[in-house]
Amino acid sequence: MTQLVRQAVFALCLFLSPMAQAEDAAPSPPIQLDRTAVQGGYVLGWAPEGTTEILLDGQSVPLAADGRFALGFGRDASANAQLIARLGTGETLSLTIPIAPRQWQLENLPSLPRVSQPSAEFLARRPGELAQIEAARKSISSQTGWRQSFIWPARGRISGVFGSQRIYAGEPGVPHNGVDVAGGTGTAVYAPANGIVILAAASPFTLEGNLLMIDHGMGLNSAFLHLSRIDVAVGDVIRQGQPIGAIGMTGRATGPHLHWGMRWLDQRIDPALVAGPMSAAPAPMGKDKQPD
Ligand SMILES: [Zn+2]
Repeated sequence: MTQLVRQAVFALCLFLSPMAQAEDAAPSPPIQLDRTAVQGGYVLGWAPEGTTEILLDGQSVPLAADGRFALGFGRDASANAQLIARLGTGETLSLTIPIAPRQWQLENLPSLPRVSQPSAEFLARRPGELAQIEAARKSISSQTGWRQSFIWPARGRISGVFGSQRIYAGEPGVPHNGVDVAGGTGTAVYAPANGIVILAAASPFTLEGNLLMIDHGMGLNSAFLHLSRIDVAVGDVIRQGQPIGAIGMTGRATGPHLHWGMRWLDQRIDPALVAGPMSAAPAPMGKDKQPD
């Protein structure tokens, strides 16, 4: 019900004009989006009946049998995106989606060198780790988590925000691509939505440590980094609120925290926007007491 209420509150009907429409033809029903698009944001949409294909800036978008679809916009998304709906009638609908810009947290470190030289061990191990991550991301399942109202996998102080970036002696580092929630080692982590496990690292990765990835369907997936423990295995079907692991500081981390990253197809999106304000979010149903 929460999802329905949220969608009703944010209901935003964007009416599409057919590119070419005969004078006596009835106008096509509109495509609807459930919220305004922002950089790093996630939007759910409904295509008119008879839609056979949706394209976002030329890229094919997974489309559910009931006409629903998801869209994600990366941190550096440009001011507009072009959505095209192709109907079985041959009609084509086009919509320009404005994408609201956001301010990113930047930190200047004028005298700090960017990174030390990577070790030989890192250089040897990293390609295999990246290959595992890329292979996992390729799976687009029929899971339904993408339709749900997401919950926070852990609750606590936000110790790192999506999109923040350090500038090392004038040279920009890689933007932070997830949200960090501080918490003690061993604190339970819960599935933010339904999904299927697509990666559960057998041993800690050099940067991500114990890495768990869950596919929520329609090209949407979550990654949980630095875990002290992973409680699920590849192929497990996961329900929202189910315990999946525990907070830790494995891999490259300066203290125990959960790094939660999300992607929609090849776009990194902000989990904090998907889950909404932590104070308003319902607590997971796991039996472990959640820290405030
Ligand atoms: Zn992080």
